[in-house]
Amino acid sequence: MFTKVLFPIDLDEEDFSLEALDYAVEETRKDHAELYILTVLPPAEQATKLNYPRGEGAVQSIEQSAHEHLDALVREHVPEDVRATKIVRRGVSPSDEILGQAEKNNVDLIVIPCHDRGLLEGFLLGSVTTKVVRHAHCSVLVMRRPRK
Ligand code: ADP
Repeated sequence: MFTKVLFPIDLDEEDFSLEALDYAVEETRKDHAELYILTVLPPAEQATKLNYPRGEGAVQSIEQSAHEHLDALVREHVPEDVRATKIVRRGVSPSDEILGQAEKNNVDLIVIPCHDRGLLEGFLLGSVTTKVVRHAHCSVLVMRRPRK
């Protein structure tokens, strides 16, 4: 049913995202589709200011470690018969990057893990998820995961 599945992952929330990744892999495999795993890093000028390492080569090393992180995820969670493409982007808005990559790659399903906030918190979904659901031109599967 689906041909291209996009799985955006916040690498700072890896543990929380793994169950949803396994689900995205299963959906991809079932449909003989293609999987895109995307992570968005802060823009270079922000990355060196915040809690990231500073100095010469810092930006490249952050990018390098994101690539390695995605490589490890694919090794551990994606069987060899599933075609997976890893994408590392930089941008101020993860939702814009997710929407942009979905369009660019003609994705027909986005699987997005989202914290279950409960009704009392007022917002049912996080800001990234809300924008993706609202603006995506394809199906979006929101996987609500409990906060640990
Ligand atoms: P929550 O409060 O549940 O984290 P968000 O809507 O802000 O809600 O984020 C949920 C999802 O959005 C993440 O699980 C991930 O799929 C995607 N996302 C958020 N930030 C990034 C990022 N930097 N790179 C890739 N995906 C991201």
